[in-house]
Amino acid sequence: MTPIKSTWVLLSVIISVASYADELPKGFKRIPGKFVDVITDMEVDEHLKELPQIFDAAIPIWCEYFKVSEREVSDWHVEAFVMGAKERFRNAGLIPTTVPDFRYGFQFGNQIWVVEQPSDYYRRHLLLHEGTHWFMNRKYGDHGPPWLMEGIAEWMGTHHWDGKKLTMGIIPKTREEVPYWGRIALVQEQLAEGIAPTLETILQYDSRAHQDVDAYAWSWTAIVFLLNHPSTKDDMKALFKLKEMKSDQTLSKMLLKRMKPAMPLIRQEWNAMVTELEYGYDPSRGMMKFTREAKWIEKAPAKINVVANQSWQSSGIRVNEGDILVIDATGEFAVGKTSKPWKCFATGVTLEYYRGEPLGKLMLALADGINNDQTHTQPIEAIPVGDHLEITAPRAGELHFRINESNGGLADNAGQLTVSIRKK
Ligand SMILES: [Zn+2]
Repeated sequence: MTPIKSTWVLLSVIISVASYADELPKGFKRIPGKFVDVITDMEVDEHLKELPQIFDAAIPIWCEYFKVSEREVSDWHVEAFVMGAKERFRNAGLIPTTVPDFRYGFQFGNQIWVVEQPSDYYRRHLLLHEGTHWFMNRKYGDHGPPWLMEGIAEWMGTHHWDGKKLTMGIIPKTREEVPYWGRIALVQEQLAEGIAPTLETILQYDSRAHQDVDAYAWSWTAIVFLLNHPSTKDDMKALFKLKEMKSDQTLSKMLLKRMKPAMPLIRQEWNAMVTELEYGYDPSRGMMKFTREAKWIEKAPAKINVVANQSWQSSGIRVNEGDILVIDATGEFAVGKTSKPWKCFATGVTLEYYRGEPLGKLMLALADGINNDQTHTQPIEAIPVGDHLEITAPRAGELHFRINESNGGLADNAGQLTVSIRKK
């Protein structure tokens, strides 16, 4: 989990070749795969036995992400030590003395160490996390800055495995799907406590930040945003096409420079995503994005459609603080509920509540770019609208609308509302 200096890479290749013997010390077993050999001191059960298959299934996914051809990696190989008792590996010389002490996992050259975990999920997670470090190190000669190195490893480590197919880079639907992972809970808690870091703080983490478990959760969250948000995803894709990465701040500075013209809006778009982030969060439902050239609200009503299966939808309408807004909504839509969807109007259905308001109720976010540096990520306020709302704008900004439901529940909805917006 500690960044490895690129000068160590050559050395580590030599070390790993030297230790790559068929004969293992007594008490250790080797489970061979194509790209990995798993070496363990534990009894080989069905879960340990399938680790090489899972690691091999990750290779084409890493190739796709990091733009490497499968031909290029055909002779890449790693030893993965899955350790019931770490001291046993140290004593047997299976952890070089140059490797510092670590708590969960470590990668060095063509070797990975994973400390045994209380769930099969989390053991695989750590293997894929360290495997991502290994793959990036092989491709880029280094891992990139701390947030990128750990954020991507966490992103790719978060996976679904059904015994045959591996999917990496998932956002878990439930806590039970990813036992002992806990990233989303930490993000929600820190946002509620007002201590959530800003995107810019995360992008400037130094190499010591990840001694703290918080930094893993926030680096993962930054990756979820940057990979998916329309304001940043092309810049992220461009990073992966690079031939090499340094572990200093070069890449972070490059990315921040590209984002700079839109940064006030991106800060608020980030706030909106963090506010929405919970189990089942689905970025394909759309993310709050400001209209770059929004129009001012007028006395003549403007009409927009708000679809039921998308997250925040920008209206393209800006207001000033103190404007009196009149918002009316008509139409009927369906909120998907397993086999029998509920018919719903703008007032929502009171059979179920989400975040204190009826499910399906029309909600408004009035938000603007943030010019001065905010010290912490702030939640976006969702104002209940229903079928009619007259409100004095508490601040200037653009109007965004959605129906009230958790992001992960939006996909099975159908239909839309027509929303009329005017200034009184
Ligand atoms: Zn790591």
